Amino acid sequence: MHTDKNALTDTFNRSINYLRVSITDHCNLHCQYCTPRDGKTKHTNLLSYEEILRIVRLAVELGIKKVRLTGGEPLVRRGVIPFIQRLAQVDGLSEIRLTTNGVLLEGMLHDLQRAGLEKLNISLDSLRPRRFEEITGSACFAKVWRGIEKALEMGFPVIKLNVVAMRGVNDDEFIDFARLTIKQPLDIRFIEFMPVGLAGAGQQAKFISTADIMTMIAPLGELQPIKSQRLHGPARMFKLPGAAGSLGFISPLSNHFCDTCNRLRLTSQGRLRSCLLTDREEDLKGPLRSGASDEDIRRLLIQTIINKPKGHTLTQGQKTGSCHGEMSRIGG
Ligand code: SAM
Repeated sequence: MHTDKNALTDTFNRSINYLRVSITDHCNLHCQYCTPRDGKTKHTNLLSYEEILRIVRLAVELGIKKVRLTGGEPLVRRGVIPFIQRLAQVDGLSEIRLTTNGVLLEGMLHDLQRAGLEKLNISLDSLRPRRFEEITGSACFAKVWRGIEKALEMGFPVIKLNVVAMRGVNDDEFIDFARLTIKQPLDIRFIEFMPVGLAGAGQQAKFISTADIMTMIAPLGELQPIKSQRLHGPARMFKLPGAAGSLGFISPLSNHFCDTCNRLRLTSQGRLRSCLLTDREEDLKGPLRSGASDEDIRRLLIQTIINKPKGHTLTQGQKTGSCHGEMSRIGG
């Protein structure tokens, strides 16, 4: 483990430069596999924006370059726009990203753009309004879609749509999602279903591998690999012939990317987690609220990175994972 101005490097020589922050575990959707209906944390148990900013500043001093805001649904937390503005002023932080379900996007896009956010990840598991409602418990597909269209009109340079691939749920739509990239500059990314939290409990028959997803969209033409860029993260990227957008495949189970994992996570309740799929966490909220010094917090950040496991141990088709935490709290 060493730290220098530009890098936090862990025991397995991975540079840790990416912090994902769940700013709330509250969500305005209740996806079957993700958010429990009664799971909301009391506001005082959440880190305050001030506390998050303090952790981010210290993490950036140690080498974090990129922060992603997630949740729960980050856009439901009051004051998120001024918070992003303040985050954008953290010296040395080169990228801020947001992952959203898109429900509130349409009305917030101008503010988000003004706050300095350029790249959007929008989660969308179905293009069919009725099915969207079955999966999420809310009839707001049209709202989400208007948000996506407006983001395209406003020229956001990166708009990624994240689709969790689920056998028997949305597998008949993969080809429709892929087809969207032909005319629109969208990055459609298929994510393998992970046995995490609610999704671990008997839902694993829904798992479908990247290889199978690729077979299903093969009728659209040969997938042309795009040279991997830092921007793509763990996705393997392709284009359909002549397409405006791209296709990405994120395969945490069938082809895991632990060897190159550069992530650290801060949960909505102020716990640091070095692996999404391993339950070990380090509490920061307690120390923060009992007068810990910056040096103490730095030590905890470094300790978490030292303890980052070499890889997760989940396997394809596993019925219950070693990760029992809820995605909404950890931040997907
Ligand atoms: N509310 C925001 C959103 O919808 O993007 C951010 C939080 S949500 C937990 C982040 C992402 O995690 C979503 O794309 C969601 O579909 C994904 N996710 C949740 N549970 C998952 C699972 N078991 N396997 C794969 N992806 C999952």
